[in-house]
Amino acid sequence: MYDDFIRALPKTEAHLHIEGALPLDLLRTLDPVKYALPPMSWAKDFRYESFEAFDEHLLGMVCPWYNSPERYYESAKLVFERLQKEQNVRYVETSFASGIVEFLGVDGPSIAEAIKSAAPVGLEVRVFMGLHHNGYTERSMAFVDDCINWRHLDGVDLHGAETMPLEPWTDRIWKKFNDAGKYTKAHAGEFCGPEFIWEVLERLNVKRIEHGERGSGDPLLLEELKRRDITLDLCPISNLKLRVTSSIEDHSLRDIFDAGVRCTINTDDPICFGNTLFDDYEIMAREGGFKKSELLRIARYGFEAAIVDEARRALWLAELDAIAATLAPGE
Ligand SMILES: [Zn+2]
Repeated sequence: MYDDFIRALPKTEAHLHIEGALPLDLLRTLDPVKYALPPMSWAKDFRYESFEAFDEHLLGMVCPWYNSPERYYESAKLVFERLQKEQNVRYVETSFASGIVEFLGVDGPSIAEAIKSAAPVGLEVRVFMGLHHNGYTERSMAFVDDCINWRHLDGVDLHGAETMPLEPWTDRIWKKFNDAGKYTKAHAGEFCGPEFIWEVLERLNVKRIEHGERGSGDPLLLEELKRRDITLDLCPISNLKLRVTSSIEDHSLRDIFDAGVRCTINTDDPICFGNTLFDDYEIMAREGGFKKSELLRIARYGFEAAIVDEARRALWLAELDAIAATLAPGE
C-alpha cells in the first residue's frame, strides 16, 4: 500500500544494530549450504518463542562474521549502500555491540572508525556503542571508561534484557557522554513497562528511546517525553515477531503518534526479521491505518531529531515539504 509514495519518501534509519543488519549474501559466503535459503524467521507469520530464542538465533548468525574491523567495514558498506539506493535513506544511526570488543577482543575504536568510514557520499552516519545492563566487567571496564575518547564514536546506547537492574556505572558513563555534548540513548519499553522508561529518563538523561512501545499507556510519561523533546525509535515488524505487540493494528505507534510524541519507524535487526525499512512503513500504512501525510510526518520527525547542522537539516525538511505539497487534502 502506498508503495511508490513510501519509496520516494526520504527517510532516516535510527534504530539499527549493525550486527543484526548483516546482509544475507555476506552470511552465505561463510556457509553457502546452511544459508542457501533465507532463515525461517523471515516468514511473515513467524514469531520468536522468546527474546532469548531471538538472541541465540542472532548471535549464531552474526558472531562468525564480525571478528575484525575489516568485516565491520565490509558489512556496513553494503548495508549503507542499500539503505541509500534501495530505501532512500539519508541519515543513519547505528550501534555495535560492546560484547564483540569484550568477548572477541576486536578493537573498539577501530570498529567505530570502520563503520563510520563505510558511509557513502550523501549518507550521514552516526555510530553508537551498545552496552548491556551488565556490560561493565573486569574484561570491559578499561575500554568502557575510555570510549568517551574514541574519535568516531558519537554516543552510547543501552542494550540487553531490560529486566536486569541498571547498575551504577551506567549513570556515570551516560553522564560523561551527556556532559561532553555527545549522544545517549537506551533500549526501554520493549519488554518492560513505562516505569523503566521513566528510570532511563531520570537516571541516564537519554535523548532517544529505542522502542518505547510499552510506554503508551502512561499519559504522564507521554507528556514528559514531549516536554524533554525525546524521540522514540520504534520497530513495528521487530515488535510483531518478538510478540511485543500481538498485531500491527494494536501497535502503540498509533497512540504515541497521536499524542504528538516524536517517533520514527526503523528495522532493528533485519537479518532476524527479513524486513526492509520499506516493509516497516508499508505495514504501518496497510495494517496500522497510517495515511500518507502521517508517514511523511514520521519521516520528518527522523530528520528533525538527526545529529546534523541546521543547513543540512533545512534541505531535507524542504524536500519533505515539497512532497507534502503534492498530497491531496485528507491523504
Ligand atoms: Zn534494538
